[in-house]
Amino acid sequence: MNVRSLTELHTVNSFAALPAAFYTRLAAQGLNNPRLLHANADAAALIGLDASALSTPEFLDVFSGRQPLPGGDTLAAVYSGHQFGVWAGQLGDGRAHLLGEVQGPEGAWELQLKGSGMTPYSRMGDGRAVLRSSVREYLASEAMHGLGVPTTRALALVVSDDPVMRETVETAAIVTRMSPSFVRFGSFEHWSSRRQPELLKALADYVIDRYYPECRDAADGESSSDTAPYVNLLRMVTRRTALLMADWQAVGFCHGVMNTDNMSILGLTLDYGPYGFMDGFRLGHVCNHSDSEGRYSWNRQPSVALWNLYRLGGSLHMLVQDADALRAVLDEFEAIFTRAFHDKMAAKLGLMAWTPDDEPLLDDLLKLMDANQADFTLTWRRLADALQGRRSAFEDLFIDRAAAAAWLDRLLARHVQDGRPALEAATAMNRVNPLYVLRNHLAEQAIKAAKMGDASEIDTLMRLLRDPYEAQDGFERYAGLPPDWASGIEVSCSS
Ligand code: AMP
Ligand code: MG
Repeated sequence: MNVRSLTELHTVNSFAALPAAFYTRLAAQGLNNPRLLHANADAAALIGLDASALSTPEFLDVFSGRQPLPGGDTLAAVYSGHQFGVWAGQLGDGRAHLLGEVQGPEGAWELQLKGSGMTPYSRMGDGRAVLRSSVREYLASEAMHGLGVPTTRALALVVSDDPVMRETVETAAIVTRMSPSFVRFGSFEHWSSRRQPELLKALADYVIDRYYPECRDAADGESSSDTAPYVNLLRMVTRRTALLMADWQAVGFCHGVMNTDNMSILGLTLDYGPYGFMDGFRLGHVCNHSDSEGRYSWNRQPSVALWNLYRLGGSLHMLVQDADALRAVLDEFEAIFTRAFHDKMAAKLGLMAWTPDDEPLLDDLLKLMDANQADFTLTWRRLADALQGRRSAFEDLFIDRAAAAAWLDRLLARHVQDGRPALEAATAMNRVNPLYVLRNHLAEQAIKAAKMGDASEIDTLMRLLRDPYEAQDGFERYAGLPPDWASGIEVSCSS
Protein backbone atom coordinates (compact mmCIF):
# COMPACT_ATOMS: atom_id res chain seq x y z
CA MET A 1 0.00 0.00 0.00
CA ASN A 2 1.63 3.25 -1.13
CA VAL A 3 1.60 6.29 1.14
CA ARG A 4 0.20 9.67 0.12
CA SER A 5 2.58 11.95 1.97
CA LEU A 6 6.36 12.24 2.21
CA THR A 7 6.06 12.32 6.01
CA GLU A 8 4.82 8.72 5.90
CA LEU A 9 7.82 7.39 3.96
CA HIS A 10 10.04 4.92 5.76
CA THR A 11 13.43 6.73 5.89
CA VAL A 12 16.63 4.97 6.93
CA ASN A 13 19.73 7.15 6.13
CA SER A 14 22.43 4.47 6.19
CA PHE A 15 25.07 6.57 4.38
CA ALA A 16 24.78 9.24 7.08
CA ALA A 17 25.78 6.61 9.65
CA LEU A 18 29.27 6.40 8.10
CA PRO A 19 32.07 8.38 9.79
CA ALA A 20 31.65 12.16 9.50
CA ALA A 21 34.66 12.42 7.16
CA PHE A 22 32.57 10.91 4.35
CA TYR A 23 30.32 13.92 3.91
CA THR A 24 29.24 17.37 4.98
CA ARG A 25 25.78 17.88 6.40
CA LEU A 26 24.21 21.01 4.96
CA ALA A 27 20.90 22.22 3.60
CA ALA A 28 20.23 22.41 -0.12
CA GLN A 29 19.81 25.85 -1.66
CA GLY A 30 16.33 25.72 -3.11
CA LEU A 31 15.16 27.25 -6.36
CA ASN A 32 13.11 30.43 -6.41
CA ASN A 33 9.54 30.18 -7.62
CA PRO A 34 10.00 26.50 -8.55
CA ARG A 35 7.61 24.62 -10.83
CA LEU A 36 7.29 20.87 -11.11
CA LEU A 37 7.85 20.18 -14.80
CA HIS A 38 7.51 16.42 -14.59
CA ALA A 39 7.34 13.65 -12.02
CA ASN A 40 7.76 9.95 -12.51
CA ALA A 41 5.07 7.76 -10.94
CA ASP A 42 7.10 4.58 -11.71
CA ALA A 43 10.01 5.84 -9.64
CA ALA A 44 7.67 7.03 -6.87
CA ALA A 45 6.25 3.52 -6.59
CA LEU A 46 9.76 2.21 -5.88
CA ILE A 47 9.84 4.21 -2.65
CA GLY A 48 6.24 3.34 -1.80
CA LEU A 49 4.90 6.77 -2.72
CA ASP A 50 1.45 7.08 -4.26
CA ALA A 51 1.15 8.97 -7.56
CA SER A 52 -1.30 11.37 -5.88
CA ALA A 53 1.61 12.72 -3.79
CA LEU A 54 3.44 14.03 -6.85
CA SER A 55 1.19 17.04 -7.32
CA THR A 56 1.25 18.23 -3.70
CA PRO A 57 2.95 21.45 -2.50
CA GLU A 58 4.95 19.29 -0.07
CA PHE A 59 6.46 17.32 -2.97
CA LEU A 60 7.48 20.49 -4.78
CA ASP A 61 8.98 21.98 -1.59
CA VAL A 62 11.22 18.97 -1.04
CA PHE A 63 12.30 18.32 -4.63
CA SER A 64 13.01 21.97 -5.35
CA GLY A 65 15.45 21.88 -2.43
CA ARG A 66 13.46 24.26 -0.25
CA GLN A 67 12.62 21.78 2.50
CA PRO A 68 14.46 18.69 3.74
CA LEU A 69 12.98 15.27 3.17
CA PRO A 70 10.98 14.47 6.32
CA GLY A 71 13.12 12.05 8.33
CA GLY A 72 16.08 12.42 5.97
CA ASP A 73 19.62 13.64 6.68
CA THR A 74 20.66 16.08 3.93
CA LEU A 75 24.35 15.87 3.03
CA ALA A 76 26.94 16.18 0.27
CA ALA A 77 29.41 13.30 -0.10
CA VAL A 78 33.13 13.55 -0.79
CA TYR A 79 34.97 11.51 -3.42
CA SER A 80 37.97 11.87 -5.72
CA GLY A 81 38.78 10.50 -9.12
CA HIS A 82 40.64 10.26 -12.39
CA GLN A 83 39.25 12.55 -15.08
CA PHE A 84 40.24 11.82 -18.67
CA GLY A 85 42.97 9.52 -17.42
CA VAL A 86 44.54 12.06 -15.09
CA TRP A 87 44.38 12.09 -11.30
CA ALA A 88 42.08 15.00 -10.38
CA GLY A 89 42.26 14.81 -6.58
CA GLN A 90 39.26 15.67 -4.46
CA LEU A 91 35.92 16.13 -6.21
CA GLY A 92 32.67 15.27 -4.43
CA ASP A 93 29.02 16.28 -4.63
CA GLY A 94 29.66 19.79 -5.91
CA ARG A 95 26.05 20.43 -6.84
CA ALA A 96 24.20 17.47 -5.39
CA HIS A 97 22.55 16.85 -2.04
CA LEU A 98 21.63 13.46 -0.71
CA LEU A 99 18.24 13.93 0.95
CA GLY A 100 18.15 10.57 2.64
CA GLU A 101 17.30 6.99 2.00
CA VAL A 102 13.83 5.51 1.77
CA GLN A 103 12.87 1.89 2.29
CA GLY A 104 10.59 0.90 -0.57
CA PRO A 105 8.56 -2.26 -1.12
CA GLU A 106 11.48 -4.02 -2.83
CA GLY A 107 14.54 -2.29 -1.45
CA ALA A 108 15.99 0.97 -0.21
CA TRP A 109 16.64 3.98 -2.45
CA GLU A 110 18.75 7.05 -1.86
CA LEU A 111 17.15 10.26 -3.04
CA GLN A 112 19.53 12.89 -4.36
CA LEU A 113 18.98 16.39 -5.71
CA LYS A 114 21.26 17.47 -8.57
CA GLY A 115 21.63 21.20 -9.16
CA SER A 116 20.72 22.11 -5.58
CA GLY A 117 23.45 24.63 -4.80
CA MET A 118 27.04 24.92 -3.65
CA THR A 119 28.72 22.56 -1.23
CA PRO A 120 32.27 22.36 0.18
CA TYR A 121 33.07 20.28 -2.94
CA SER A 122 31.91 22.77 -5.55
CA ARG A 123 35.45 23.93 -6.43
CA MET A 124 34.96 26.55 -9.19
CA GLY A 125 31.35 25.55 -9.91
CA ASP A 126 28.15 27.37 -9.01
CA GLY A 127 26.32 24.33 -7.66
CA ARG A 128 23.63 24.58 -10.30
CA ALA A 129 22.42 22.53 -13.23
CA VAL A 130 20.73 24.01 -16.27
CA LEU A 131 17.34 22.95 -17.59
CA ARG A 132 18.89 21.42 -20.73
CA SER A 133 21.13 18.96 -18.91
CA SER A 134 18.48 18.20 -16.30
CA VAL A 135 15.94 17.21 -18.96
CA ARG A 136 18.62 15.07 -20.60
CA GLU A 137 19.43 13.25 -17.34
CA TYR A 138 15.77 12.81 -16.46
CA LEU A 139 14.92 11.27 -19.83
CA ALA A 140 18.07 9.19 -20.25
CA SER A 141 17.86 7.34 -16.98
CA GLU A 142 14.30 6.29 -17.71
CA ALA A 143 15.19 5.41 -21.31
CA MET A 144 18.01 3.16 -20.09
CA HIS A 145 15.68 1.53 -17.61
CA GLY A 146 13.20 0.88 -20.43
CA LEU A 147 15.99 -0.79 -22.37
CA GLY A 148 16.75 -3.01 -19.40
CA VAL A 149 20.14 -1.38 -18.75
CA PRO A 150 21.10 -0.96 -15.07
CA THR A 151 20.86 2.73 -14.20
CA THR A 152 20.08 5.29 -11.56
CA ARG A 153 16.46 6.44 -11.82
CA ALA A 154 14.80 9.84 -11.91
CA LEU A 155 11.89 10.91 -9.70
CA ALA A 156 11.23 14.55 -10.48
CA LEU A 157 12.25 17.49 -12.61
CA VAL A 158 11.77 20.95 -11.11
CA VAL A 159 12.44 24.15 -13.05
CA SER A 160 12.82 27.83 -12.24
CA ASP A 161 13.69 31.19 -13.77
CA ASP A 162 16.87 31.49 -11.69
CA PRO A 163 19.62 32.50 -14.10
CA VAL A 164 22.68 30.29 -14.54
CA MET A 165 25.72 31.41 -16.47
CA ARG A 166 27.11 28.93 -18.98
CA GLU A 167 28.17 29.85 -22.57
CA THR A 168 24.99 31.92 -22.43
CA VAL A 169 22.57 32.64 -19.59
CA GLU A 170 20.30 29.67 -18.98
CA THR A 171 17.85 28.74 -16.22
CA ALA A 172 18.36 26.49 -13.20
CA ALA A 173 16.62 23.17 -12.68
CA ILE A 174 16.88 20.31 -10.22
CA VAL A 175 16.53 16.67 -11.11
CA THR A 176 15.94 14.20 -8.30
CA ARG A 177 17.80 10.97 -8.85
CA MET A 178 17.26 7.67 -7.09
CA SER A 179 19.76 4.88 -6.63
CA PRO A 180 20.38 2.18 -4.05
CA SER A 181 23.75 3.95 -3.69
CA PHE A 182 25.68 6.80 -5.28
CA VAL A 183 29.08 5.42 -4.17
CA ARG A 184 31.60 5.60 -7.01
CA PHE A 185 34.98 4.08 -7.79
CA GLY A 186 36.27 7.54 -6.87
CA SER A 187 34.81 7.20 -3.36
CA PHE A 188 37.38 4.43 -2.80
CA GLU A 189 40.20 6.29 -4.53
CA HIS A 190 39.56 9.16 -2.17
CA TRP A 191 40.66 7.25 0.94
CA SER A 192 43.47 5.28 -0.66
CA SER A 193 44.99 8.45 -2.12
CA ARG A 194 44.87 10.00 1.34
CA ARG A 195 46.45 6.92 2.87
CA GLN A 196 43.55 6.36 5.25
CA PRO A 197 43.07 2.59 5.33
CA GLU A 198 40.60 2.71 8.24
CA LEU A 199 38.19 4.91 6.30
CA LEU A 200 38.76 2.90 3.13
CA LYS A 201 37.88 -0.21 5.09
CA ALA A 202 34.81 1.45 6.58
CA LEU A 203 33.60 2.27 3.06
CA ALA A 204 34.34 -1.19 1.70
CA ASP A 205 32.60 -2.84 4.66
CA TYR A 206 29.59 -0.55 4.21
CA VAL A 207 29.30 -1.37 0.51
CA ILE A 208 29.75 -5.11 1.11
CA ASP A 209 27.31 -5.29 4.01
CA ARG A 210 24.58 -3.39 2.22
CA TYR A 211 24.98 -4.33 -1.43
CA TYR A 212 27.26 -7.34 -1.73
CA PRO A 213 26.80 -9.47 1.41
CA GLU A 214 27.78 -12.58 -0.58
CA CYS A 215 31.35 -11.23 -0.61
CA ARG A 216 31.72 -12.49 2.95
CA ASP A 217 30.95 -16.09 1.96
CA ALA A 218 34.05 -18.24 1.58
CA ALA A 219 34.26 -20.01 -1.76
CA ASP A 220 34.00 -23.81 -1.70
CA GLY A 221 37.15 -25.40 -0.41
CA GLU A 222 38.67 -22.07 0.63
CA SER A 223 39.10 -20.86 4.14
CA SER A 224 37.92 -17.30 4.43
CA SER A 225 40.66 -14.80 5.15
CA ASP A 226 40.26 -11.26 6.46
CA THR A 227 40.98 -9.83 3.06
CA ALA A 228 38.93 -12.22 0.89
CA PRO A 229 35.77 -10.05 1.05
CA TYR A 230 37.62 -7.15 -0.58
CA VAL A 231 38.92 -9.33 -3.40
CA ASN A 232 35.38 -10.61 -3.81
CA LEU A 233 34.10 -7.05 -3.88
CA LEU A 234 36.40 -6.25 -6.77
CA ARG A 235 35.20 -9.44 -8.47
CA MET A 236 31.53 -8.43 -8.12
CA VAL A 237 32.13 -4.89 -9.34
CA THR A 238 34.25 -6.16 -12.23
CA ARG A 239 31.50 -8.54 -13.21
CA ARG A 240 28.71 -5.96 -13.04
CA THR A 241 30.77 -3.37 -14.88
CA ALA A 242 31.62 -5.84 -17.64
CA LEU A 243 27.93 -6.70 -18.05
CA LEU A 244 27.05 -3.00 -18.09
CA MET A 245 29.55 -2.40 -20.90
CA ALA A 246 27.94 -5.19 -22.92
CA ASP A 247 24.59 -3.50 -22.39
CA TRP A 248 25.88 -0.08 -23.44
CA GLN A 249 27.54 -1.43 -26.57
CA ALA A 250 24.41 -3.35 -27.56
CA VAL A 251 22.15 -0.30 -27.46
CA GLY A 252 24.65 2.09 -29.06
CA PHE A 253 25.00 4.18 -25.91
CA CYS A 254 28.04 6.38 -25.36
CA HIS A 255 28.46 7.71 -21.82
CA GLY A 256 30.82 10.50 -22.78
CA VAL A 257 32.57 11.05 -19.43
CA MET A 258 33.72 7.70 -18.08
CA ASN A 259 35.83 9.25 -15.36
CA THR A 260 36.32 7.08 -12.26
CA ASP A 261 34.10 9.46 -10.28
CA ASN A 262 31.26 8.64 -12.68
CA MET A 263 31.59 4.86 -12.30
CA SER A 264 28.99 3.33 -9.99
CA ILE A 265 30.17 0.77 -7.46
CA LEU A 266 26.89 -1.06 -8.20
CA GLY A 267 27.53 -1.25 -11.95
CA LEU A 268 24.77 1.22 -12.78
CA THR A 269 24.84 3.85 -15.49
CA LEU A 270 25.56 6.99 -13.48
CA ASP A 271 25.94 10.72 -14.13
CA TYR A 272 24.32 11.46 -17.46
CA GLY A 273 26.02 14.43 -19.05
CA PRO A 274 27.19 14.64 -22.66
CA TYR A 275 25.98 11.10 -23.38
CA GLY A 276 24.59 10.02 -26.72
CA PHE A 277 22.65 7.21 -28.30
CA MET A 278 24.19 6.83 -31.72
CA ASP A 279 22.30 7.75 -34.85
CA GLY A 280 24.71 7.01 -37.71
CA PHE A 281 27.11 4.33 -36.52
CA ARG A 282 30.82 5.00 -36.20
CA LEU A 283 33.06 2.53 -34.38
CA GLY A 284 34.99 5.49 -32.98
CA HIS A 285 31.95 7.68 -32.34
CA VAL A 286 32.66 10.40 -29.75
CA CYS A 287 29.52 11.93 -28.23
CA ASN A 288 31.18 14.45 -25.90
CA HIS A 289 32.26 17.56 -27.76
CA SER A 290 34.85 18.26 -25.01
CA ASP A 291 36.54 14.85 -25.55
CA SER A 292 38.93 16.02 -28.23
CA GLU A 293 41.10 12.90 -28.08
CA GLY A 294 38.22 10.46 -28.26
CA ARG A 295 39.21 8.75 -25.02
CA TYR A 296 35.58 7.83 -24.40
CA SER A 297 34.59 6.83 -27.92
CA TRP A 298 32.07 3.98 -28.35
CA ASN A 299 34.60 1.28 -29.20
CA ARG A 300 36.86 2.22 -26.28
CA GLN A 301 34.20 2.06 -23.56
CA PRO A 302 34.90 -1.53 -22.46
CA SER A 303 38.65 -0.99 -22.22
CA VAL A 304 38.18 2.30 -20.38
CA ALA A 305 35.88 0.53 -17.93
CA LEU A 306 38.67 -1.97 -17.28
CA TRP A 307 41.17 0.89 -16.87
CA ASN A 308 38.82 2.37 -14.28
CA LEU A 309 38.49 -1.00 -12.53
CA TYR A 310 42.28 -1.07 -12.28
CA ARG A 311 42.09 2.22 -10.37
CA LEU A 312 39.52 0.65 -8.03
CA GLY A 313 41.72 -2.42 -7.66
CA GLY A 314 44.66 -0.13 -6.93
CA SER A 315 42.69 1.43 -4.09
CA LEU A 316 41.63 -1.91 -2.64
CA HIS A 317 45.28 -2.97 -2.70
CA MET A 318 45.64 -0.92 0.46
CA LEU A 319 43.33 -3.42 2.19
CA VAL A 320 44.36 -6.60 0.43
CA GLN A 321 48.11 -6.24 -0.30
CA ASP A 322 47.98 -9.34 -2.50
CA ALA A 323 48.28 -7.66 -5.91
CA ASP A 324 48.18 -10.99 -7.73
CA ALA A 325 44.76 -11.83 -6.30
CA LEU A 326 43.40 -8.47 -7.43
CA ARG A 327 44.98 -8.76 -10.86
CA ALA A 328 43.50 -12.23 -11.31
CA VAL A 329 40.05 -10.77 -10.67
CA LEU A 330 40.59 -7.95 -13.16
CA ASP A 331 41.73 -10.53 -15.69
CA GLU A 332 38.19 -11.96 -15.60
CA PHE A 333 36.77 -8.78 -17.12
CA GLU A 334 37.52 -9.51 -20.74
CA ALA A 335 35.93 -12.97 -20.82
CA ILE A 336 32.82 -11.78 -18.96
CA PHE A 337 32.40 -8.79 -21.23
CA THR A 338 33.03 -10.72 -24.44
CA ARG A 339 30.67 -13.48 -23.54
CA ALA A 340 27.86 -11.09 -22.57
CA PHE A 341 28.47 -8.97 -25.66
CA HIS A 342 28.37 -11.98 -27.95
CA ASP A 343 25.20 -13.29 -26.32
CA LYS A 344 23.54 -9.94 -26.82
CA MET A 345 24.71 -9.64 -30.40
CA ALA A 346 23.53 -13.17 -31.19
CA ALA A 347 20.08 -12.22 -29.88
CA LYS A 348 20.11 -9.00 -31.91
CA LEU A 349 20.97 -11.02 -35.01
CA GLY A 350 18.13 -13.40 -34.19
CA LEU A 351 20.44 -16.36 -33.61
CA MET A 352 19.67 -19.08 -31.09
CA ALA A 353 23.20 -18.97 -29.70
CA TRP A 354 26.55 -17.38 -30.49
CA THR A 355 29.16 -19.58 -32.20
CA PRO A 356 32.78 -18.62 -32.91
CA ASP A 357 31.93 -18.57 -36.64
CA ASP A 358 29.60 -15.65 -35.97
CA GLU A 359 32.53 -13.38 -35.19
CA PRO A 360 33.24 -12.45 -38.84
CA LEU A 361 29.51 -12.05 -39.50
CA LEU A 362 29.21 -9.50 -36.71
CA ASP A 363 32.51 -7.78 -37.48
CA ASP A 364 31.58 -7.34 -41.10
CA LEU A 365 28.21 -5.88 -40.20
CA LEU A 366 29.81 -3.37 -37.82
CA LYS A 367 32.41 -2.44 -40.46
CA LEU A 368 29.68 -2.03 -43.06
CA MET A 369 27.60 0.10 -40.71
CA ASP A 370 30.66 2.19 -39.93
CA ALA A 371 31.60 2.70 -43.59
CA ASN A 372 28.02 3.70 -44.46
CA GLN A 373 27.26 5.47 -41.20
CA ALA A 374 24.13 3.38 -41.14
CA ASP A 375 21.64 4.27 -38.43
CA PHE A 376 22.48 2.09 -35.42
CA THR A 377 18.97 1.55 -34.09
CA LEU A 378 17.21 1.07 -37.41
CA THR A 379 19.86 -1.28 -38.80
CA TRP A 380 19.15 -3.73 -36.00
CA ARG A 381 15.42 -3.16 -35.93
CA ARG A 382 14.97 -3.72 -39.66
CA LEU A 383 16.79 -7.03 -39.59
CA ALA A 384 13.56 -8.63 -38.40
CA ASP A 385 11.78 -7.29 -41.50
CA ALA A 386 14.57 -8.45 -43.77
CA LEU A 387 14.30 -11.91 -42.31
CA GLN A 388 10.66 -12.02 -43.38
CA GLY A 389 11.40 -11.08 -46.95
CA ARG A 390 11.23 -7.29 -46.63
CA ARG A 391 14.86 -6.64 -47.43
CA SER A 392 14.71 -3.21 -48.96
CA ALA A 393 13.99 -1.29 -45.73
CA PHE A 394 17.24 -2.71 -44.36
CA GLU A 395 19.26 -2.17 -47.53
CA ASP A 396 17.97 1.42 -47.78
CA LEU A 397 20.03 2.28 -44.70
CA PHE A 398 23.30 1.69 -46.60
CA ILE A 399 24.81 3.77 -49.38
CA ASP A 400 26.49 0.60 -50.59
CA ARG A 401 23.30 -1.41 -51.00
CA ALA A 402 25.03 -4.27 -52.79
CA ALA A 403 27.36 -4.81 -49.83
CA ALA A 404 24.40 -4.68 -47.44
CA ALA A 405 22.50 -7.21 -49.57
CA ALA A 406 25.50 -9.53 -49.70
CA TRP A 407 25.88 -9.38 -45.93
CA LEU A 408 22.17 -10.03 -45.49
CA ASP A 409 22.48 -13.19 -47.60
CA ARG A 410 25.08 -14.44 -45.16
CA LEU A 411 22.79 -13.76 -42.21
CA LEU A 412 19.89 -15.52 -43.92
CA ALA A 413 22.10 -18.54 -44.62
CA ARG A 414 23.06 -18.57 -40.95
CA HIS A 415 19.37 -18.53 -40.02
CA VAL A 416 18.73 -21.53 -42.28
CA GLN A 417 21.40 -23.32 -40.27
CA ASP A 418 19.55 -22.40 -37.04
CA GLY A 419 16.30 -23.75 -38.50
CA ARG A 420 14.09 -21.39 -36.48
CA PRO A 421 10.94 -20.17 -38.27
CA ALA A 422 11.45 -16.59 -39.53
CA LEU A 423 8.41 -15.24 -37.71
CA GLU A 424 9.58 -16.68 -34.42
CA ALA A 425 13.08 -15.27 -34.88
CA ALA A 426 11.71 -11.88 -35.95
CA THR A 427 9.44 -11.66 -32.90
CA ALA A 428 12.38 -12.43 -30.62
CA MET A 429 14.56 -9.85 -32.40
CA ASN A 430 11.94 -7.15 -31.95
CA ARG A 431 12.10 -7.77 -28.20
CA VAL A 432 15.82 -6.97 -28.11
CA ASN A 433 16.23 -4.40 -30.89
CA PRO A 434 14.41 -1.25 -29.77
CA LEU A 435 12.35 0.86 -32.13
CA TYR A 436 12.53 4.03 -30.05
CA VAL A 437 15.70 5.42 -28.52
CA LEU A 438 16.43 8.76 -26.92
CA ARG A 439 18.10 10.25 -29.94
CA ASN A 440 19.76 13.62 -29.41
CA HIS A 441 17.24 15.44 -31.57
CA LEU A 442 14.31 13.98 -29.63
CA ALA A 443 15.86 15.14 -26.37
CA GLU A 444 16.48 18.51 -28.02
CA GLN A 445 12.81 18.90 -28.99
CA ALA A 446 11.76 18.03 -25.46
CA ILE A 447 14.20 20.64 -24.10
CA LYS A 448 12.90 23.29 -26.47
CA ALA A 449 9.32 22.69 -25.34
CA ALA A 450 10.41 22.50 -21.69
CA LYS A 451 11.98 25.95 -21.98
CA MET A 452 8.48 27.20 -22.82
CA GLY A 453 7.08 25.37 -19.78
CA ASP A 454 5.63 22.60 -21.92
CA ALA A 455 6.32 19.09 -20.59
CA SER A 456 4.26 17.25 -23.20
CA GLU A 457 7.28 16.09 -25.21
CA ILE A 458 8.94 14.81 -22.05
CA ASP A 459 5.75 12.98 -21.25
CA THR A 460 5.51 11.44 -24.72
CA LEU A 461 9.14 10.31 -24.64
CA MET A 462 8.77 8.83 -21.17
CA ARG A 463 5.80 6.81 -22.42
CA LEU A 464 7.50 5.58 -25.60
CA LEU A 465 10.81 4.81 -23.94
CA ARG A 466 9.25 2.88 -21.10
CA ASP A 467 8.65 0.06 -23.61
CA PRO A 468 10.88 0.97 -26.55
CA TYR A 469 10.32 -2.33 -28.34
CA GLU A 470 6.59 -1.95 -28.95
CA ALA A 471 5.46 0.14 -31.95
CA GLN A 472 2.84 2.73 -30.96
CA ASP A 473 0.36 4.02 -33.52
CA GLY A 474 0.76 7.69 -34.35
CA PHE A 475 4.37 7.93 -33.14
CA GLU A 476 6.17 6.93 -36.33
CA ARG A 477 8.10 10.21 -36.29
CA TYR A 478 9.84 9.14 -33.08
CA ALA A 479 11.06 5.94 -34.73
CA GLY A 480 12.42 7.51 -37.89
CA LEU A 481 15.83 8.62 -39.05
CA PRO A 482 17.04 11.84 -37.43
CA PRO A 483 16.54 15.10 -39.33
CA ASP A 484 19.58 16.71 -40.97
CA TRP A 485 20.00 19.23 -38.16
CA ALA A 486 20.56 16.42 -35.64
CA SER A 487 24.17 15.96 -36.74
CA GLY A 488 24.85 19.58 -35.75
CA ILE A 489 23.86 19.08 -32.10
CA GLU A 490 26.89 19.43 -29.86
CA VAL A 491 26.83 18.21 -26.30
CA SER A 492 29.74 18.95 -24.03
CA CYS A 493 30.74 18.75 -20.37
CA SER A 494 29.11 22.15 -19.75
CA SER A 495 25.92 21.46 -17.85
P1 AMP B 1 30.78 15.61 -13.79
O1 AMP B 1 31.78 15.69 -14.88
O2 AMP B 1 29.47 16.26 -14.10
O3 AMP B 1 30.60 14.22 -13.30
O4 AMP B 1 31.36 16.47 -12.58
C1 AMP B 1 32.66 16.35 -12.08
C2 AMP B 1 32.77 17.07 -10.76
O5 AMP B 1 32.47 18.45 -10.92
C3 AMP B 1 31.83 16.55 -9.69
O6 AMP B 1 32.50 16.62 -8.46
C4 AMP B 1 30.68 17.54 -9.73
O7 AMP B 1 30.00 17.63 -8.51
C5 AMP B 1 31.40 18.83 -10.06
N1 AMP B 1 30.54 19.79 -10.76
C6 AMP B 1 30.08 19.73 -12.02
N2 AMP B 1 29.33 20.80 -12.31
C7 AMP B 1 29.31 21.58 -11.22
C8 AMP B 1 28.71 22.83 -10.89
N3 AMP B 1 27.97 23.52 -11.75
N4 AMP B 1 28.91 23.31 -9.63
C9 AMP B 1 29.65 22.65 -8.75
N5 AMP B 1 30.24 21.48 -9.00
C10 AMP B 1 30.08 20.93 -10.21
MG1 MG C 1 29.99 13.15 -12.00
